[in-house]
Amino acid sequence: MTPGFRVFAIRYAHREGVAATEVFHHATSADEPRAMAYYLWLVTGPAGAFLVDTGFGCEVARIRDREDCLRGDPLDAVRALGVQPEELSDVVLTHLHFDHCGELGRFPSARFWLQRREMAFWTGPGASRPSFRRVVMSQDLTDVVELNLAGRVRWVDGDAVVAPGLSLHHVGGHTAGMQVVRVDTGSGVVVLASDAAHYYDNLETDRPYSALESVSGAHAAFDRLRELAGPAGDIVPGHDPAVMSRYPAAGPGLAEVAVELTAPKIESEELS
Ligand SMILES: [Zn+2]
Repeated sequence: MTPGFRVFAIRYAHREGVAATEVFHHATSADEPRAMAYYLWLVTGPAGAFLVDTGFGCEVARIRDREDCLRGDPLDAVRALGVQPEELSDVVLTHLHFDHCGELGRFPSARFWLQRREMAFWTGPGASRPSFRRVVMSQDLTDVVELNLAGRVRWVDGDAVVAPGLSLHHVGGHTAGMQVVRVDTGSGVVVLASDAAHYYDNLETDRPYSALESVSGAHAAFDRLRELAGPAGDIVPGHDPAVMSRYPAAGPGLAEVAVELTAPKIESEELS
């Protein structure tokens, strides 16, 4: 039996001129500023449709001075791929940074898959520290509290199977409860790293991104990503604009908006 999944990356925002000191925990003088893309991911197949992360909306963009970054409503692309967001039954939240878990009210039929350690951290003593507090929105956290009271959060402790061939794995490092998504399509493996690896370069140079809960945890996450992908699998970073050029457009009218990660790559570049 093959799961027959297709996996899509939907770019909903884009930012130029991100400082090297943000891209790398230990940037050097040789590192240059670069662009940053913001994605959510859609997995479709006979088992159903699964959204991975929800991005941030217009209100948060305004509050955080990111209005110039937004590239339209990402849910338009979800609909263009044949999925009605209102009908989604499962949404995975890789972690609770503002650019991954906004506007959860737009998914009224969904249960949300989240690591227990992630919510424990953001409701615990470390969350108020400046280096952590700055990357979350209180509204997103209270949304999760409300959803939990409504019985709509599926708490994960480590690894979990969402559907045969689609699994979640705690890696930590970037945040305490950072989780990644492994999709076995039957003919290959795609691992959605989300912020366990922002850029291909983070993995290739073995240097984590600047925002960290644990440096050693981030390195262990790199190892876990490779282990989950196996020698032939693809690891898809969470913020690298290069994803948009390595894979073909997901469909007519979706160029620059969405790419299919389960389609043959446009150019094959080796990940070390
Ligand atoms: Zn993050």
